[in-house]
Amino acid sequence: MAEPAKPLTMDTIVSLCRRRGFVFPSSEIYGGLGSTYDYGHYGVLMKSNIRALWFRAMVQERDDIVALDSAIILNPRVWEASGHVAGFTDPLVDCRTCKLRFRADQLELASCGRKPSKRPGETPDCDLTEPRQFNLMFETHVGALQDESSTAYLRPETAQGIFVNFKNVAQLARRKPPFGIAQVGKSFRNEITPGNFLFRLREFEQMEMEFFVPPADADAWYRYWIDARRRWYLDLGLRGQNLRIREHGADERSHYSLATSDLEYLYPIGWQELEGVANRGEYDLTQHTRESGTKLEWIDQDGTRYTPYVIEPAVSIDRIMLAFLCDAYDEEVVGDRERVVLRLHPRVAPVKAAILPLVPRDEGMAGRARELYEELRRHYVVEHDESGQIGRRYRRQDEIGTPWAFTVDEQTLEDETVTVRDRDSLAQERLPISGVREWLDDALERAWSSPHSG
Ligand code: ATP
Repeated sequence: MAEPAKPLTMDTIVSLCRRRGFVFPSSEIYGGLGSTYDYGHYGVLMKSNIRALWFRAMVQERDDIVALDSAIILNPRVWEASGHVAGFTDPLVDCRTCKLRFRADQLELASCGRKPSKRPGETPDCDLTEPRQFNLMFETHVGALQDESSTAYLRPETAQGIFVNFKNVAQLARRKPPFGIAQVGKSFRNEITPGNFLFRLREFEQMEMEFFVPPADADAWYRYWIDARRRWYLDLGLRGQNLRIREHGADERSHYSLATSDLEYLYPIGWQELEGVANRGEYDLTQHTRESGTKLEWIDQDGTRYTPYVIEPAVSIDRIMLAFLCDAYDEEVVGDRERVVLRLHPRVAPVKAAILPLVPRDEGMAGRARELYEELRRHYVVEHDESGQIGRRYRRQDEIGTPWAFTVDEQTLEDETVTVRDRDSLAQERLPISGVREWLDDALERAWSSPHSG
């Protein structure tokens, strides 16, 4: 396969997402809102595949993890107990010259407001203030009164909703440690340095799993989850050379963490955290026990009591989606034409197959293609496309990552076979139209690895 001619930039991904309706800037007709995006049709399909694949690996295919969907706005005392009201802050600096705000610990990733090529603080013109702490939680008010007593927060993580439900779930789920609770839902952070597309959003969809274990086993489970999460990405086709594990040093860890490792992906902006796996110890259950007065502990059948330790893999669908899109993006010249192709794992791809009549105005072909489409769409997200030349229709599907196209042609009308075209190899084979559904079932079960070596 041809190597991409130039290094991938975030702008290339942003423009593909926009052109093909994966993701748009939010409320764009009013000038947008910083770091908030809306997902269009293909974006929604891809997101829901990622969510379903995570849920399948974390809940459906395991005996030891149950699901939860807690509220976004919790009693504000939850966030006092968790330490977020006092400490969920980033160091902020203002530039008196360009009037922009930056995260003091990430100046090397930011662009100066006056000279986009320069980093803030690089030239004597930049006049940065001393860093001060800025709380990232969005505040709101619950009820009709807007005073201090009605202040509440949009959750900055889904994890706390799990901890405060520990007792409910442990009793009802009839599980004993080690067991986990998984949750997927929106989280909100008033990020200081937005930008970088889906990487850092103010509103994002988190997928977190809190795994409660006997303290003595915590380190082994921490290693287990780092490895399991790494394998999940590789099984879904992320290229190994773009994924690495980085263990945090003691000075870098959050206050609650006994150990943290990031699964980092090589985004166009460099190596950055895709997912974090942390050993949170007994911090959260102990804090909520102290502040709520409800004992969040485990009592074994022999009466031994202990506070379980928590191992947490935490990620957002948005960061996964960005990693998959960057990893999949490829440009190559086929014949004398250039094509853009998203080499997504078939299970991640928004559309599983396209059904195309070779000559749309031929009633026989159009009718057969429509029938096949109507049969397949009962099982999978598939598309039927009759507009334009066949080459152009193939390229439209390549650009959204559709792994296979079934084409109904003249021969179909004679012998009831269609061609299947493979997105990656461009190989075509014929198969009976009656066997297409089964062929697709098998193809989606097969292991897949990226042919993209760039
Ligand atoms: P960072 O250091 O990049 O701000 P973090 O360490 O604060 O991230 P965590 O609190 O560990 O992030 O959040 C867990 C996961 O949630 C991250 O690994 C990431 O996948 C996702 N996430 C966090 N903040 C954002 C955001 N602003 N936009 C999109 N995803 C996010």
